[in-house]
Amino acid sequence: MAMIVDYKKLWKDALTEIELSVSRANFVTWFKNTDIVGEENGTIFLSVPNVFVQEWLSTKFHKFILRALHRNCPSIRNIEYLINKKDVAEAVKKEKGVDVAKIKNEEQLGFNELYVDTEANLNPKYTFDSFIVGSFNEVAYAAALAITKNLGTAYNPLFIYGGVGLGKTHLLQSVGNKIRREKPDAKVHYLTSEKFANDFVTSMKNNTIHSFKEKYRKYNLLIIDDIQFFSDKLKIQEEFFHIFNSLYDKNNQIIFSSDRSPKHIVGLEERLRSRFEGGMMVDISKPEYESRLAILKAKSEEKGFLVDDEILDYIASSVQSNIRELEGALNSIIGQCKIRGRILSLQEIKDLLKKNAQPEKKVTMSQVIRAVTDFYGIEERSLFEKTRRKEIVKPRQVAMYILRVDLGVSYPYIGEKFGQRDHTTVIHAHKKIERTIEKDDVLNQEIEGIREILYGKK
Ligand code: ADP
Ligand code: MG
Repeated sequence: MAMIVDYKKLWKDALTEIELSVSRANFVTWFKNTDIVGEENGTIFLSVPNVFVQEWLSTKFHKFILRALHRNCPSIRNIEYLINKKDVAEAVKKEKGVDVAKIKNEEQLGFNELYVDTEANLNPKYTFDSFIVGSFNEVAYAAALAITKNLGTAYNPLFIYGGVGLGKTHLLQSVGNKIRREKPDAKVHYLTSEKFANDFVTSMKNNTIHSFKEKYRKYNLLIIDDIQFFSDKLKIQEEFFHIFNSLYDKNNQIIFSSDRSPKHIVGLEERLRSRFEGGMMVDISKPEYESRLAILKAKSEEKGFLVDDEILDYIASSVQSNIRELEGALNSIIGQCKIRGRILSLQEIKDLLKKNAQPEKKVTMSQVIRAVTDFYGIEERSLFEKTRRKEIVKPRQVAMYILRVDLGVSYPYIGEKFGQRDHTTVIHAHKKIERTIEKDDVLNQEIEGIREILYGKK
């Protein structure tokens, strides 16, 4: 199917649409330096500046982008995200320049992540400096640090295991970043075991298995995260076994992480298991209260937003699962303080955390409609009337907002439900409510009230 389209225009139109529905920071962060570079059989090739944007767009925004493209050009069925090498070089060059300062001011989401060291595939935000040590992780920390002093000879391999969100990736990448800084000539590479597996499969398909092997054998430090994904993938384990041996024999360092000890990874070949166990194995456990508090203190300082001790104490005692959740709770509190322009009371924080902790119940479109009309005391029918009466317009916009934000219903579909031929009305409603809740406490509470009806009492 040949298509003659003006890519520039197509992408421009899609971007215009996307821009309307994502925040400014998100838009600038993820969509700048993107371009359509080609099309084949309904697949659009989108060039992106780096791995991180590639991953972000393909996981978080894919459907969204596809919808925007599809609407503008119905024969488009898929998108492939290609990394533009030239952009990478430029981004690195600019890293220390003015551009970065400007971007920083805009408080971009995930700014740091944009500047992933593409060759080593390391995220510079993960450093030993920002890693907080407590009794729950000090052994792992010490082992990781020791490696940076005696690469390949101290503990090889190093195997770090522990539950999700406990800092394995952070620690692994800290080693990589430190080595990159101190030994610029060392060949360092970080990847997940999934990526390794994908790479392997691709190289089989493309008959490039030879260069695949060469590539992995040349590293002085190879870091493989989340090795538990090797479970039951015997062909990949076999290939990896040889790579491991070849690295190991040359005293090249290998580091692994896993969510459990090698003993507990099912479908792991015995010889590989014994290789893992032949080095240093350390675990990271859950942080206890003191460590949780120390982490929160350090993180709130790092974010430049000092939170009262009473509140930190509350978070530290109620969020016990892992560090990612701790950080998430802190972020949402800081975010709410910024939105409301004031410090939240302890009660408000309790409510906020409780709400975040509850997995949201699945609700349907008609439940949303009913909750909104119940809440405002209007009849369901009137919500769909073509009227500009204030007492109807607001509930209608709120309903559209909740459908969009909570249920992720598409604009056109909401438009259709509400008898709108043009879905820009829906986009407008979404934006309007979004803007208003930032400064209007009453509306904020109304929406919270509706959500209470929908998801149950806090
Ligand atoms: P895992 O890989 O074990 O699932 P991550 O390394 O991704 O966990 O950690 C989750 C989040 O918590 C990251 O944002 C990380 O920076 C942060 N984090 C984890 N451990 C620590 C620590 N000891 N000090 C500071 N931040 C940490
Ligand atoms: Mg991880």
